[in-house]
Amino acid sequence: MPSMTNTNYNNWQEKISGDKILVIAGPCSAETEEQVLTTAHGVKKAGGHIFRAGIWKPRTRPGNFEGVGAIGLKWVQRAKQETGLLTAVEVANPNHVDLALKHDIDVLWIGARTSVNPFSVQEIADALHGTDKIVLVKNPINPDLALWIGAMERIAKAGIEKLGAIHRGFSSFKKMPYRNEPLWQIPIDLKTRFPLLPLINDPSHISGKRENIFDIAQTAIQLLFDGVMIETHIDPENAWSDARQQITPEALAKMIPKFIPPTDKVFNTDLLKSFKLLRKEIDDLDTELVQLLKNRQDKIEEIGRLKFKDNVAIYQKERWLDILNKAIENAQENNVNRKFIEQLFRLLHQESLKLQHNVFNDLNSNKQ
Ligand code: PEP
Ligand code: MN
Repeated sequence: MPSMTNTNYNNWQEKISGDKILVIAGPCSAETEEQVLTTAHGVKKAGGHIFRAGIWKPRTRPGNFEGVGAIGLKWVQRAKQETGLLTAVEVANPNHVDLALKHDIDVLWIGARTSVNPFSVQEIADALHGTDKIVLVKNPINPDLALWIGAMERIAKAGIEKLGAIHRGFSSFKKMPYRNEPLWQIPIDLKTRFPLLPLINDPSHISGKRENIFDIAQTAIQLLFDGVMIETHIDPENAWSDARQQITPEALAKMIPKFIPPTDKVFNTDLLKSFKLLRKEIDDLDTELVQLLKNRQDKIEEIGRLKFKDNVAIYQKERWLDILNKAIENAQENNVNRKFIEQLFRLLHQESLKLQHNVFNDLNSNKQ
């Protein structure tokens, strides 16, 4: 039985796109037979490898377009016969799996609202038992790497060898330019743990806006992702779902040649020397950084002891705002990203409160 670590996932991605970026493209939703067929031909012409279409749409609120249902599978099957493209649909329950298999679909993906639920994933895994399809698992809507890996493990345990992960970003309350926050560190951690697992980026669902699709895809490619899934529609403005984030097959055709995978192997010896030098400098700075944090910690504990003696509150609002504002000003003067510094200082302040609490607790227990 293959586990997630001792397999090469049957090299499915390389077998399809070789050393090129794998491109999965097609509409958010299958709407009509004509729309499916015309888009599929457009995707083929653009150089895409796999044609996607949503048949059942998991909508956040009822009443939105919930997909055409099983009839759409016939259109997708026809698209496959006419174009020779592999086909992909989302499955959210065993019945979807059954129907997709009956219609000779090649790739089944589990959506973000399903991968979040281990019960649903297990039911799908059981229904997939014994098939040799490619199964892709989107990250759950909340940023939980263990849950994402858990979902893939359930599929792997059902004997599915051709596994892959799709990074579609994470739901967030924060105000931000994207529909879903990319949180790149999470897919990077996944790739570090499972280096051979094909990792696909979904810039459409991250951006929510077609203007940002290329930039996000480009970032993913620089981060050594293996492929992209891009929502493509013959008439994006009038799409029945996700109209703002779909692009035309013509726009896709212009984008694909720009998807050039970077190399992670450096052979140029001059470049290697420069890397070595710079990395040494970065390592030294990191050592210094930790030492600075240790010095800061000592001062904080000292002030904590003084506060304890005179029963002064640990949290001092004015002081905290002063620290934060100074840091932001400093960041701006030095051309360091303001948001990053703000987050970093919030973290430092949180740690400082914790350190002082520990000092208070220690001194209190000595008193008793
Ligand atoms: C989709 O791919 O159309 C979709 C519904 O995506 P997600 O599960 O990422 O929201
Ligand atoms: Mn969509």
